[in-house]
Amino acid sequence: MTIHAGPEFSREHARSDDATVARLLLEEAKDYVGTGAKATAVYHWEYSQPTNPHDEPFVYVEGPPPLVFCGDAYAGPKVEGAVTSGLAAAGKLLESAPRP
Ligand SMILES: Cc1cc2nc3c(=O)[nH]c(=O)nc-3n(C[C@H](O)[C@H](O)[C@H](O)COP(=O)(O)OP(=O)(O)OC[C@H]3O[C@@H](n4cnc5c(N)ncnc54)[C@H](O)[C@@H]3O)c2cc1C
Repeated sequence: MTIHAGPEFSREHARSDDATVARLLLEEAKDYVGTGAKATAVYHWEYSQPTNPHDEPFVYVEGPPPLVFCGDAYAGPKVEGAVTSGLAAAGKLLESAPRP
């Protein structure tokens, strides 16, 4: 059984110890899962969601060398957004690469 905490709870308990986090989450979920958990494991994903998403698929900074910023903060905060952004950024790099 996996319980995902939301952004508010996660921010509030980013530095709380695992036992406290497990106890609080199980308490919240007890109406759905009961109270019989025998073992727990807590994972903290520190950068799980972009907090300041951009509308553009990437940001390009003229070089040399050129810099391209891309990822799930640019084209939607999911795997699909990360892939779309990465492909767009790669296209931009190829387009701006010097031709032999
Ligand atoms: C628990 C969880 C569940 C999720 N479930 C889903 C789901 O079901 N469906 C979905 O679509 N999305 C899901 N996501 C979101 C999805 O994982 C992300 O949107 C996606 O992985 C973002 O890809 P990315 O390449 O932009 O960034 P990341 O995958 O975060 O890649 C960034 C990389 O940069 C590296 N890095 C960071 N800092 C540095 C540095 N200073 N120097 C060198 N390397 C560095 C990191 O180690 C990492 O490898 C989930 C995320 C989490 C945390």
